[in-house]
Amino acid sequence: MQISIIIPCYNEENNIHKFQLEMQQVIDQSFSYELIFVNDGSQDNTENILRELAKKDDKLYYISLSRNFGKEAAMLAGLEFAKGDAVIIMDGDLQHPPSLIPQMIGKFEEGYDQVIAKRNRKGDSLMRSGLSSLYYRLINWFVEVELENGVGDFRLLSRRAVNSLLSMNEYNRFSKGLFAWIGFKEYIIDYENVTREDGKSSWTLPQLLNYAFDGLLSFNNKPLRASIYIGTTLTAVSVLYVIVMLIQIIFRGVDVPGYFTLISAILLVGGVQLTFLGLIGEYIGRIYYETKKRPHYLVLETNMDRTDSEKHQK
Ligand code: UDP
Ligand code: MG
Repeated sequence: MQISIIIPCYNEENNIHKFQLEMQQVIDQSFSYELIFVNDGSQDNTENILRELAKKDDKLYYISLSRNFGKEAAMLAGLEFAKGDAVIIMDGDLQHPPSLIPQMIGKFEEGYDQVIAKRNRKGDSLMRSGLSSLYYRLINWFVEVELENGVGDFRLLSRRAVNSLLSMNEYNRFSKGLFAWIGFKEYIIDYENVTREDGKSSWTLPQLLNYAFDGLLSFNNKPLRASIYIGTTLTAVSVLYVIVMLIQIIFRGVDVPGYFTLISAILLVGGVQLTFLGLIGEYIGRIYYETKKRPHYLVLETNMDRTDSEKHQK
């Protein structure tokens, strides 16, 4: 049995050594493994460190991407190169404790296809954890797959789960949704949240908001349907209002001071129209990117050989 461990890294120069040390302590010699570091266009010394480590350790591989393509692309690169019977995806910043790996592999041997590590929200600000639980409640109302709070990319995937993920070649990859979409037998392991020690999270507030939108838009077209409902409701209300006005005019004559109603109606309808125009634009934008069929990432340098992995994919 071979296990591939994929670690996307963006500016993690201070974490790689620590990561490797922790890893060595938990990795069991009873199975063979490969460590695949994906250097996602780091601006620091990550690339050199990985190249040096790979010279000393024949189980350590690296894939350097030609620029920063984002974590989704980095994970995909790792998945495409991985040869293992099972693949574990984890962060390089030690927020995903390697100590969970033996347990994950144990569950894989029991026959689970996805062994998911789920963190609690300890250490997150009250505001952030509150907002995320609200978000998950809201989004699950829309999307047809169940997205779970606290569940991220830290997981083990069986070969067939990996191949299923690779068969979904969309450009806008929302992994959280893709993982949920493929299904198979899942097992959840809970763990205590770890805060980042070194370096900083690459998430900014606008990015988090964008991610939230991606989650909503990339998995369904229900928001478009909502526009039909809201549109028809507004139309119905307006028709009723017009009838009421008409009756009033017939019986009481024209009432000139209608400024407030007029402005309210214009603003409300205008706002709703703009919102849905933007929404439609979002979907069109996605179609635009999908039709280009660009690769998700470009490789600058690697000590792996991709042709090997390609036969696993088919
Ligand atoms: N990462 C990456 N490309 C990016 C941003 C992040 O490969 O553009 C990696 C990063 O090195 C880390 C993991 O993805 O290993 C998670 O990133 P981060 O810690 O910034 O996110 P958070 O833990 O706050 O969700
Ligand atoms: Mg992190």
